[in-house]
Amino acid sequence: MQFDYIVVGSGSAGSPVAARLLERGASVLLIEAGKKEKIHLSRIPAAIVHTIGNPRYDWCYKTEADPTRGGLTEAWPRGKVPGGSSTINGMIFIRGAARDYDAWEAMGNPGWGLE
Ligand SMILES: Cc1cc2nc3c(=O)[nH]c(=O)nc-3n(C[C@H](O)[C@H](O)[C@H](O)COP(=O)(O)OP(=O)(O)OC[C@H]3O[C@@H](n4cnc5c(N)ncnc54)[C@H](O)[C@@H]3O)c2cc1C
Repeated sequence: MQFDYIVVGSGSAGSPVAARLLERGASVLLIEAGKKEKIHLSRIPAAIVHTIGNPRYDWCYKTEADPTRGGLTEAWPRGKVPGGSSTINGMIFIRGAARDYDAWEAMGNPGWGLE
C-alpha cells in the first residue's frame, strides 16, 4: 500500500493534521499505538480517575528518581489511545489572552492574531 503521508500518533496534533491532509485530497495513513476504546470511559469527565495510570489508556511514564526530593518519582501520564492525551485529559478549556495572539501576529505570523 502507498500513501502520500504517514502520520504517527492520533492525538491532538496528529488527528487534525491527518484530517486537513485528507481534506486536500491526499491519501493518509494514521498510525496509533493505543487500542480503540470498547467502553467509552473517556466520554465521562469524572472517569479520568479510571484512565490515568491505567496502561489500557496511558503510557504510564515515570520520571527518574529526583535526588533533591528524597528520590521521589512522579507519574507523567500521556494518552495511549485514539485521541491521545486529549482522550484522557481533564477537558479544561481556558481562553487565551487577546494580547498574546496579537503579539504572535506582530512577530510576523499573519493569521495568528485574535481576529
Ligand atoms: C492527564 C492529562 C490531563 C490533561 N488535562 C488537560 C486539560 O484539562 N485541558 C487541556 O487543554 N489540556 C490538557 N492536557 C494536555 C493535552 O491533552 C495535551 O497537551 C495534548 O493532548 C497533547 O497533544 P499531542 O498531539 O502533542 O500528544 P498526544 O495527544 O498525547 O498524542 C500522541 C499520540 O501518539 C501516539 N503514539 C506515541 N508514540 C507512538 C508510536 N511510536 N506509534 C504510534 N503511535 C504513537 C500516542 O499513543 C498518542 O495517541 C492534559 C494532559 C494529560 C496527560
